Amino acid sequence: MPAEPYLCEVADGVYAYVQPDGGWCVSNAGVVSSAGRTAVIDTAATEARARALHAAVTSVAAAPDIVVNTHHHGDHTFGNAAFPGATVVAHREARREMETRGAALRAVWPEVDWGDMDLVLPSLTFEDRLTVHVADRPLQLRHVGPAHTTNDVIGWLPDARVLFAGDVVMPGCAPFVLMGSLEGTLRALRGLRALGPRTVVGGHGEVAGPEALAEAETCLLWTRDVAAEAVRSGLTPLEAAREAGPGPYAGLRDPERLVANLHRAFQEAAGGVLGAHLPSAPVFREMVEYNGGRPLRCLA
Ligand SMILES: [Zn+2]
Repeated sequence: MPAEPYLCEVADGVYAYVQPDGGWCVSNAGVVSSAGRTAVIDTAATEARARALHAAVTSVAAAPDIVVNTHHHGDHTFGNAAFPGATVVAHREARREMETRGAALRAVWPEVDWGDMDLVLPSLTFEDRLTVHVADRPLQLRHVGPAHTTNDVIGWLPDARVLFAGDVVMPGCAPFVLMGSLEGTLRALRGLRALGPRTVVGGHGEVAGPEALAEAETCLLWTRDVAAEAVRSGLTPLEAAREAGPGPYAGLRDPERLVANLHRAFQEAAGGVLGAHLPSAPVFREMVEYNGGRPLRCLA
């Protein structure tokens, strides 16, 4: 079994809550606190994990009055109910996706003990930028999608140069752009690099420095090249993944995401609209096939 989740203080009053091993649905959270005020960034997938997160946060900070959801995925939002009284903030599209999809993600991994929590939708939404003032500390929220999804929001804390990147950056884990955009992620990564972060807290994986941005970029540029070559040779995304080998995905968590990322790269190579919806169920089946029939490993 992976190690227990832990809090890591990355700057004065600023924490990453890291959940090993960072695989499917085992997501991180962030904490920004000052003068009795607290913001939490993302809320974990299951009731047990969300309650453990709440306990960890309140062991070092006041009960959160703000919850930020970096995007609509359930492993970042299902735990919202564990933070009663907090204002939940997200991108407008994140709320819409949460409303439309409900708890559908739970059906992908029925073996997980999700607990019994109501879905709590964001009550404050925005489109481009919003600054949350945690007492005297401005936490800047910026929409950077389509990237991992259409509705990715990053949190930037300029006073400590800490970047809460959501699933746009997942150090040590394969990127996953099926529900967003490969080109959009490359564009987002350039923007994040320009911020000049000292510390990167990804939506999954260990706390990292700015090198995590370059690693994600390398992976996606390689994926785009593989897709371009495969389109010329008439291969499908699954065939292309098998023929190319893991490349820079070797050693990353959940390398089967290469297949999904190739589906998105093919759509973009054909001139498709960035972030346009692709049906995900058949692609998940192909990732299982790529894995030799093993189901996607979810330790939530
Ligand atoms: Zn996600």
